[in-house]
Amino acid sequence: MKQETRGVPLSGPYLGEREEELVLEVMRSGQLSLGPMIDRFEEAFAEHLGVPYAAAVSSGTAGLHLLCVSAGVEPGDEVITSPYSFAASANCFIYEGGVPVFADIDARTLNMDPDAVRAAVTPRTKAIVAVDIYGYPCELDELRAIADEHGLAFIQDSCEALGALYKGAPLGTHGPSSVFAFYPNKQMTTGEGGIVTTHSEDEWRRLRSLRNQGRGDSGGWLEHVRLGYNYRLSDVGAAIGLGQVEKLDEILPRRARVAQVYNELLRDVEGVQLPAADDADHVRSWFVYVVALRDNATRERVISTFEREGIGFNRYLPSIHLQPYMRERYGFREGLCPVSEDLSSRTLALPFFTAIERDQQERVVEVLAGAL
Ligand SMILES: *Cc1c(COP(=O)(O)O)cnc(C)c1O
Repeated sequence: MKQETRGVPLSGPYLGEREEELVLEVMRSGQLSLGPMIDRFEEAFAEHLGVPYAAAVSSGTAGLHLLCVSAGVEPGDEVITSPYSFAASANCFIYEGGVPVFADIDARTLNMDPDAVRAAVTPRTKAIVAVDIYGYPCELDELRAIADEHGLAFIQDSCEALGALYKGAPLGTHGPSSVFAFYPNKQMTTGEGGIVTTHSEDEWRRLRSLRNQGRGDSGGWLEHVRLGYNYRLSDVGAAIGLGQVEKLDEILPRRARVAQVYNELLRDVEGVQLPAADDADHVRSWFVYVVALRDNATRERVISTFEREGIGFNRYLPSIHLQPYMRERYGFREGLCPVSEDLSSRTLALPFFTAIERDQQERVVEVLAGAL
């Protein structure tokens, strides 16, 4: 009983009657896939963000994969990405035979350090997959300049950064094609799903064909003009997504206020490094609230206490290059990206979701401070 009243979950979606109403509309229409709800969702999303084109897909990973296909990544091509990210940031080009090259991160922002990216470029480099980790915008202009200088494709994994601002404008609007993800722990959800934003009508048409088994715009159901995939988002997912887009102006500020409360509660707790603060060029969209503790032993001690008290947590994020399949396939070892490895050993995600209550946050901080 104590656990039930005092425990705090790690995350949870923020859904209401509007989503139920839209899902019901789809169910009653009988068009559960490739129906009008997909177009409504894409249009509403694109308009909300201020991008010309958006193509909904079955997951963020699927969207990233399609951008790698669209960029022409081929076997043996090197692709530079961040080691301090979710595995999909690298898997998306490995599917095409791309070879991962990890550029170490900045200890403050946890995003790729442009100097490390520059040093990682070789004649075999084909693309850069930049990540806006934990919703904090990457060094977009500097990274894009490196890509332009070397003729590289530039893909932005903004899966955690819906609504984040870089130099005053939302990610997705600056030009590079970007992917946003809608798993239930993200800022908004479609159950499973993602969306690719692009500024090119040609690329948008290609993405819509690729996600739909390579079917053409005008051909029939059984004509396939290219090698495609089944990466479609269902209309049920799109209905949930449309309801979520309609309340983004409520969701995003609420999440920012939740983060503000943690910032205040944790300010005077010694040994807790808070997420990087916004500045004129970078305004975070809050996906998770991740703190850095003194060392791995301290983190594991806190985790034992959280487990005992029913407080949700996760070890966000392990370094991708040290995952078992990465060590096996490429022989990556400790020491490749020391900044990422150090932070992976001591960063911790605290319970964070749109509807979390202040007293739940106070409980989390009380338990954390007690464990420290
Ligand atoms: C969530 C996420 C993705 C995509 O995840 P899916 O579960 O495939 O939707 C990709 N990259 C990052 C950094 C993410 O956080």
